[in-house]
Amino acid sequence: MKLLRFGPQGQEVPGILDAEGNVRSLDGRIPDLQGEGVSLAALDAIRSIDVQSLPVVTPDRIGACLADMPNFHCVGMNYAKHAAETGAEPPTEPILFSKATSCLSGPFDPVVIPRGSTKSDWEVELGVVIGRYASYVTEDEALDYVAGYCTLNDVSERAYQFDHGGQWVKGKSAPTFGPTGPYLVTADDVPDPQALRLDLSLNGETVQDSNTSDMIFTVAQIISHMSQFMALRPGDVIATGTPSGVGLGMKPPKFLKPGDVMELEVEGLGRQRQDVVAAQ
Ligand code: ZN
Repeated sequence: MKLLRFGPQGQEVPGILDAEGNVRSLDGRIPDLQGEGVSLAALDAIRSIDVQSLPVVTPDRIGACLADMPNFHCVGMNYAKHAAETGAEPPTEPILFSKATSCLSGPFDPVVIPRGSTKSDWEVELGVVIGRYASYVTEDEALDYVAGYCTLNDVSERAYQFDHGGQWVKGKSAPTFGPTGPYLVTADDVPDPQALRLDLSLNGETVQDSNTSDMIFTVAQIISHMSQFMALRPGDVIATGTPSGVGLGMKPPKFLKPGDVMELEVEGLGRQRQDVVAAQ
């Protein structure tokens, strides 16, 4: 299933893409897509709905595919070439950090460069949405805990990330720094999360172009590893790292400016497009 949320900002309702690519409304039929609303049990309940009986809608706006998330976890340096371009050694265990959940943004909403920013950057990533409470799970069973997958842009401010002490969260969390969607594609429709092309273009020029097969730690390894340190809950999101081609790694480095356009996609999960705008 491809689930989505549509409507004006803050008033989105859930929907589903039918076999013909029409958006059909699930408004009033299911809880909003967040937390327990995307648990494996909740997804099974959606599967029992006759999609053809739902009204077709033509939304003006597609919002983030999740209304909110309990946690927005991220994995750093999970592609060898990206680690190299940032000057870091490839990690021997997954590097974990987080984004403030208030950065959640729609896939087509503008990305706002925060006040004082000079180093805002892009990161296309495979997003994993957890569907079941996960604690101490093995690698073999880890993918059974996944509700689905989505396209993510882990927008990052490199000066805030590296030059202000403490953790990366400062550079990862500004409002609109988490475009998520357009679709939550359920795990049954993603047979192999390690075989998905992902790419990002800036103003029409491809700058990131890789495949999730190049991840250092697989989705299953990441979930199993994380679950040794914390419990994951339905609706938690894990951004699984970005491949090479970010602005920080360019010579000279290149960062976002108002008027730029980012377009990005993870194969099969839907394309995003964001206009970059200055803070008001
Ligand atoms: Zn990232």
